[in-house]
Amino acid sequence: SQISRVTVVGSGNWGSVAAKLIASNTLKLASFHDEVRMWVFEETLPTGQKLTEVINQTNENVKYLPGIKLGKNVVADPDLDNAVRDAKMLVFVTPHQFMDGICKRLVGKLKEDVVAISLIKGMEVKMEGPHMISTLISEQLRVNCCVLMGANIANEIAVEKFSEATVGYRENREVAEKWVRLFSTPYFVVTPVQDVEGVELCGTLKNVVALAAGFVDGLEMGNNTKAAIMRIGLREMRAFSKLLFSSVKDSTFFESCGVADLITTCLGGRNRRVAEAFAKNGGKRSFDELEAEMLQGQKLQGVSTAREVYEVLRHRGWLELFPLFATVHEISAGRLPPSAIVEYSEHKPNCS
Ligand code: NAD
Ligand code: 13P
Repeated sequence: SQISRVTVVGSGNWGSVAAKLIASNTLKLASFHDEVRMWVFEETLPTGQKLTEVINQTNENVKYLPGIKLGKNVVADPDLDNAVRDAKMLVFVTPHQFMDGICKRLVGKLKEDVVAISLIKGMEVKMEGPHMISTLISEQLRVNCCVLMGANIANEIAVEKFSEATVGYRENREVAEKWVRLFSTPYFVVTPVQDVEGVELCGTLKNVVALAAGFVDGLEMGNNTKAAIMRIGLREMRAFSKLLFSSVKDSTFFESCGVADLITTCLGGRNRRVAEAFAKNGGKRSFDELEAEMLQGQKLQGVSTAREVYEVLRHRGWLELFPLFATVHEISAGRLPPSAIVEYSEHKPNCS
């Protein structure tokens, strides 16, 4: 039939909000099946109850998005195979470090006409080189995979405050427009852009800059310094993206996925917040420790992305071209003090 079933793979902070947003549209739009399945990485809550059971009883993800009703047509499912079985449209939204394992579990399990979209900010570095998450999905699962990125702090979208997002697609504009229809609401305005790598790299790399912004905040260096770090970071984001993929367009950096996401994340994101605490403690408490204490199960993407970017830079001999990216990793790995963010990054970057 022409009616598409949608499954959301992931149910963290953004995953839960994405399910809510989509579920409000599937009820209204005839081309989508009303029910939205949400795969949940099962866990037992301190009360002894299973998270999926509580979500299905209360219609709330009490752990990752408390206080927000997801919509009665969102069904939590702890069984990955079952959750994707009848889906025509798969929305991937887990922390990026889990995607390799999830893809391996799904190989050979999807129907031929399935399409996917990734809301995941991060990358994988394999022996052969860097792999974007949408590439991991499209290569392992043999499906068309778009991406959706933007200035989208999940808790703000959960209470329906206005924001914008960008859908990145490779060739098939029709599929991209179907995703735009699935996600668009009056408070969530989505624009398609034919530059899947550019859109995904914007979303991925801004998390590294957000750590730098957090260090500046922790050191109380003020707004001008933070703006300088954001400018240098944006410039490195563009240069790195273009070196990896010559097809990346300058105009993508002016979409929501580019400069807007960079701004919101450097003002209000989790990477920024934990990096601020890291710098305040003079780098004496590790990111792992601070993440566990401050985020209660939610995950940072910037620290591992900084390490992954660093590996690419080292491997390709580009370290000197990207002083901000390189320094963020050196600081988060404990090899440089947080104050190095300005000392090292202020030297004019060599990248264009
Ligand atoms: P999150 O940070 O809330 O992470 C928690 C999720 O990880 C939970 O669903 C948990 O069950 C799951 N998890 C833990 N261990 C797991 C395992 N071993 N296997 C599989 N899953 C496991 O997640 P999120 O906020 O939904 O973020 C997902 C992606 O979306 C990330 O790439 C993030 O950068 C991106 N994103 C987040 C936001 C936001 O504001 N939260 C906004 C835009 C994009
Ligand atoms: P954080 O993971 O740093 O909170 O960033 C969220 C985000 O990607 C906003 O678009």
